[in-house]
Amino acid sequence: VTGGSGAIGAAICRQLAGDGFAVIVHANRNLDAAEQLAADLRAEGREAEAVQFDVTDATATKTALDKLLETGPIQVLVNNAGIHDDAVFPGMSAEQWHRVIDVSLGGFFNVTQPLTMPMIRTRWGRIITISSIAAITGNRGQVNYSAAKAGMIGFTKALAQEGASKGITVNCVCPGYIDTEMVAAVPEEVLKKIIAGIPVGRLGKAEEIASTVSFLASDGSGF
Ligand code: NDP
Repeated sequence: VTGGSGAIGAAICRQLAGDGFAVIVHANRNLDAAEQLAADLRAEGREAEAVQFDVTDATATKTALDKLLETGPIQVLVNNAGIHDDAVFPGMSAEQWHRVIDVSLGGFFNVTQPLTMPMIRTRWGRIITISSIAAITGNRGQVNYSAAKAGMIGFTKALAQEGASKGITVNCVCPGYIDTEMVAAVPEEVLKKIIAGIPVGRLGKAEEIASTVSFLASDGSGF
């Protein structure tokens, strides 16, 4: 689970560990959080380990993944690592554009590509990506984020066509606003308006995204 050190990633790790998977909790800067989560899961009798790499660094990512693959293929990949760096478009710098695209889209390629062939050899795999509602509706101040997240949907649809005959399903989850630090950074007045537009009248919970991922990782989502 990339970005397992973050809010949604941690919930996904807990859910998948509870489902019986041996979970690799990935972190970039916050290895402590990933190690703590892995230790908590082991204390509950689950199988978990932490790993650290920057998904934008193709070489570091490949090196880390090759090491993990020495013990066997990774059957379920959850591409969850992501950042946002918002600005209205006229004020958006090239750095902001590239940073967000590089993590979400570049990182998606860097992590998924080395894991695909070992997965294909086993004829069973699940690739699940956390995109965003911003990919579908667009979002003011998030041209970079919306573009990156929409790119993930195209990537997913194309890879799903390649994977299907090999027992590999590829899916995207596009969460709405989830009660996390990412959303806590939104000014209160704006947040009120956002919640008013959500049919259930509240923010989503990370656990609700995790349960969707749990289904997509299961045998039940083979079709
Ligand atoms: P967090 O900020 O809590 O977590 C982001 C995770 O991504 C962290 O684990 C972070 O690692 C990791 N990450 C960031 N940059 C890199 C990098 N260069 N290399 C490797 N890992 C990196 O965010 P959330 O849990 O809220 O979001 C998780 C995902 O869900 C994101 O993709 C986000 O876009 C998406 N999403 C979130 C929504 C929300 O409402 N929160 C709504 C829709 C989608 P570390 O901290 O260790 O550096």
